[in-house]
Amino acid sequence: MVLSQLFVNLTILVSFLFFYYQVFREHSFSHITTTPVRLMTGVLFGLLGMVLIEFGIKVNEYTLIDLRHIPIMISALFGGWMPAVTAAVIISFSRLAFGGGVIVLYPLSMIIFSTAVSVFIARAVRDPWLAAFYMLLSSNLYFLVIMLYQLNTVALYTEVALSYWFVSFAGVFAAVYMVKRLTYSNQLLHKYRAESLKDPLTGLDNPRSFTYSLTKKLEQASKTKQAVSLLIIDIDHFKDINDQYGHAAGDDILRQLGAVLLEMVRPEDSVYRKGGEEFTIILFGCSGFRAAGIAERIRQRVEKYPFITEHRTLNITVSTGVSTFPDTAVEERELFKQADEALYQAKDQGRNQTCMYSKKDLKE
Ligand code: GH3
Ligand code: MG
Ligand code: MG
Repeated sequence: MVLSQLFVNLTILVSFLFFYYQVFREHSFSHITTTPVRLMTGVLFGLLGMVLIEFGIKVNEYTLIDLRHIPIMISALFGGWMPAVTAAVIISFSRLAFGGGVIVLYPLSMIIFSTAVSVFIARAVRDPWLAAFYMLLSSNLYFLVIMLYQLNTVALYTEVALSYWFVSFAGVFAAVYMVKRLTYSNQLLHKYRAESLKDPLTGLDNPRSFTYSLTKKLEQASKTKQAVSLLIIDIDHFKDINDQYGHAAGDDILRQLGAVLLEMVRPEDSVYRKGGEEFTIILFGCSGFRAAGIAERIRQRVEKYPFITEHRTLNITVSTGVSTFPDTAVEERELFKQADEALYQAKDQGRNQTCMYSKKDLKE
């Protein structure tokens, strides 16, 4: 009897946590940062408490126990005092509004007690399992004391106490387990999402990210009638550097070049490693003429920059192709192709230089 009611309660808890994590994927417990999210979390957990009260477990014909304290403990444990207190206030008021009389004072005092204790323990104890254990221990002891005044036979008292301890431990541990699992899978999701857009060697944005951004920036630019320039920067004779000084030295250069490129552009511009020893930069709101100026500054800086590798300091040069939306191309693929053609022209003309795409030049 108690078991089947417990099962219903656990199902409510688990489904609630699952949906909470779906909705708050970006701001779930592990990422709580803003006051509105904390308050919202408290409100939702307060509502969960109300639902759990509705599904109270009937131990015998006199006694109903419920898991209302679990949402408070879980919010204290993973979200801090604000959601815990918010949830506690909502649960208490719902009781005062629906119930009445002196009978609600016991549960009310218990909510206040277990909220205060939970908030304190959540701060003092790092391990969530241990913290949950202490929270339960203290609130269950408090419950035992309250019940002393309410139940007058030993048999009744033992039955209620045992059921309460069993049910609340099962509930809290199921909830802690769920929160930990869901937090972990959310963290993995965030991590993989971030990594899927980064180049591991240089830490720059990768080609996938480049494609996303270029599409987005061109859409934005055509709406706001702004120019977007694209630079493709390629290291000259990089194969020779690898052959002569080793692949590790080549990697050192790629890493440092990534940092140099980032330094040379505005914070709102993005630098991408497009693959191999090729980098791209998208310059939003930047005419072809200005973009060529930036490319030239980059070229000069790279030419002088001492790239430090394990055994020696090396110098490299880069060639750059520039194309501009909407001056030379109005379409994404065309824009990339033009910058690439301009890059080839720079290589053709002897490397260590910048070329702007121009239909006229390339025809000649
Ligand atoms: P060019 O001046 O015409 O651009 O000559 P290049 O040697 O730079 O061009 P090529 O395309 O022939 O060679 C590119 C080289 O970049 C070949 C490859 O070994 C090297 N490379 C590509 N990715 C990496 C990497 O991740 N690390 C290192 N160390 N080298 C890489
Ligand atoms: Mg090259
Ligand atoms: Mg290349």
